[in-house]
Amino acid sequence: MKETVRSEFDYDLFVIGGGSGGVRCARFSAQKGARVGIAEENYWGGTCVNVGCVPKKLFTYASHFSEDVKAAKGFGWYVDKPGFDWPTLRENKDSEITRLNGIYGKLLQNVGCDTFFDRAIVVSPNRVRVGSREFSSKFIVIATGGWPSVPSFPGNEHVVTSNEMFHNESFPKNIVIVGGGYIAVEFAGIMHGLGADVIQLYRGPMFLRGFDEEVRQHLALEMVKKGIDLRFDEDILSIERHGSGLHAQLKYGEKIKTQMVMYCTGRKPLSHGMGLEEVGVKLSQSGAIVVDGDFKTSVDSIYALGDVIDRVALTPVALAEGTALSKLLFDNEPVSMDYDYIPTAVFSNPNIGTVGYTEGEAKNRFQKIRVYTSCFTPMKHTLSGMDEKSFIKIIVDDGSDRVVGVHMVGPEAGEIMQGVGVAIKAGATKAQFDDTIGIHPTSAEELVTMREERE
Ligand code: NDP
Repeated sequence: MKETVRSEFDYDLFVIGGGSGGVRCARFSAQKGARVGIAEENYWGGTCVNVGCVPKKLFTYASHFSEDVKAAKGFGWYVDKPGFDWPTLRENKDSEITRLNGIYGKLLQNVGCDTFFDRAIVVSPNRVRVGSREFSSKFIVIATGGWPSVPSFPGNEHVVTSNEMFHNESFPKNIVIVGGGYIAVEFAGIMHGLGADVIQLYRGPMFLRGFDEEVRQHLALEMVKKGIDLRFDEDILSIERHGSGLHAQLKYGEKIKTQMVMYCTGRKPLSHGMGLEEVGVKLSQSGAIVVDGDFKTSVDSIYALGDVIDRVALTPVALAEGTALSKLLFDNEPVSMDYDYIPTAVFSNPNIGTVGYTEGEAKNRFQKIRVYTSCFTPMKHTLSGMDEKSFIKIIVDDGSDRVVGVHMVGPEAGEIMQGVGVAIKAGATKAQFDDTIGIHPTSAEELVTMREERE
């Protein structure tokens, strides 16, 4: 810490929200010598650790076994009567989450942060109330994240969101999933893989708005081939409970009987009811906290980061923001957050991995682009008996030869795309991709062997 801020305040920094971004900012600031307090009212580790990335990925692994068991036959294995036990998965997952909660708490305490497992609100630009106690702090950081949002319609009290799905008492035989974003497609794959009949409804003509058009179409086709009942331009108008089941009235007249309806229709920033507007912190129409390039809100001493500012709602982005803010506040280092070329994965079945511009975006941004595509059968599926194809697309700015977008649908696309992200960030050209020797036999080698430009 170059310039000490030790002062008349109880703390140099008080963080509200113990998720990825808040914990990172608190921890790194304490390591720099700042006196830090942090409050969390639900669970250490926030959405990612408790009801997001981590349990979702564990469920994704679990869901793949049904296909793996089927595929095993083609490789000479006989697996008698495979069965799935939901409580075992749920409880094993809970143990792992409890372990991670403990690690988060310890990480904070080990660097000297005061941790409060309680609700905190802002009472003035430099004061927070935590339960029944009040503290002053030179800086306050809001990192309260987001919460699932369900539209209002008759019977919406009967639906579950991703928050509840991780704790279901029993596993449903069938489910209707509403939405067409990350969470909806991931859960459609998870629930189908674990044995439920899945209907996924999306209100528009093609799900995953914002992703490359061909990627969206390829995934839709693969999901349908696997047996997911995917319906576009469709929505639920109302839901009634009948005994232990639900009747969902659809837009075009059909009534579906189902055990469960899950809504994955976006998440809202958690910014209300914590005194922010009262002290002058500006919120956008969606409830996101408005911040400048330094994560500073409209009140000089109050900062915000992560999902609650609704820029890019991804854990690694919140972590980077937490690091950047800590360096700004306690090392006087200017913020240098770069939101370009963020690689991301959708853990659908099969995965999507993507970095850079979609073809549509690239067409608008660059004078001329070249596009390379490949659709192929992954080697595993030559013997698995499964009809699953992978898809890769490379987009090149013709003027500079720089690769400006790589998109993949296929097994482990998320794993593959992290390395590609480094190359793209470093400004790799298509010629450099072509010069790179492939790793044989892999799906990823396709990335360096795509020579034929798409017509
Ligand atoms: P998204 O914002 O990604 O998607 C919301 C979906 O719900 C969209 O398809 C949207 O449609 C639809 N929708 C919104 N409002 C309504 C409505 N009133 N009626 C019907 N449909 C509606 O949200 P998610 O909840 O899926 O995920 C939240 C964020 O969490 C993601 O954006 C992502 O940043 C992050 N996340 C990341 C993951 C990862 O990295 N693998 C995994 C899970 C989440 P339309 O497109 O037409 O607006």
